[in-house]
Amino acid sequence: MSNQIYAIYGASGCGRSLMPVARQQLQRQGVAAEIYFIDDSLQEEKIVNGHTAVNYQTFKSIECSNKYVLIAIANSQIREKIANQLIADGIKLWSVQADNSVIMDNVEISEGAALSPFVSITSNIKIGKCFHANLYSYVEHDCVIGDYVTFAPGVKCNGNIRIEDHAYIGAGAVIKQGTPDKPLVIGKGAVVGMGAVVTKSVAAGVTVVGNPARILERK
Ligand code: UDP
Repeated sequence: MSNQIYAIYGASGCGRSLMPVARQQLQRQGVAAEIYFIDDSLQEEKIVNGHTAVNYQTFKSIECSNKYVLIAIANSQIREKIANQLIADGIKLWSVQADNSVIMDNVEISEGAALSPFVSITSNIKIGKCFHANLYSYVEHDCVIGDYVTFAPGVKCNGNIRIEDHAYIGAGAVIKQGTPDKPLVIGKGAVVGMGAVVTKSVAAGVTVVGNPARILERK
């Protein structure tokens, strides 16, 4: 029985982009272990980009004392559901970060994070579970980010911003910095559209788009 195995949960776009980041991470740590893909759409084992891909039931049945899984699925509700399942099954949430990502001082990031290439997290920042920071995103000083938050590529999250659980920030969005006594807040489950320029706080559950960002009214 091997001592530890690793997996990327999700073998679609997000997972296939994060697999090389995961490989880099193990190489950097000098760990020689196999990395599987887990995807529940699979009826039987197959090879995806050179890695064995299986469904979760099969992965669970592999005998190994330590299993680590990065959930690489952009939908944050699915991430939460799978994270709870993994924890219930005694499987650890795995965090990966690209070799060229930058993390500065006093940064606290909970388990299950994915930091893609060219991501920067500067100083005095707290981030919750299963955070996804896609290519070229940054988080500036004194931000507090909740659980299951997702940044598409190129998100510019400036200083003193609070982002609540399950918020989704679209590609290239820019969020204006807040102040220490009045952080700019992106509410729980809010969606910021791609390219939006967010100049003031966004309420929970709404979608904002444009420059300056405004609430998208559903017709
Ligand atoms: N998936 C899964 N188990 C689930 C939900 C989703 O294995 O409970 C897989 C799904 O089969 C798909 C991937 O996760 O292959 C999600 O891919 P999608 O293209 O929707 O989005 P991505 O997160 O890769 O951008």
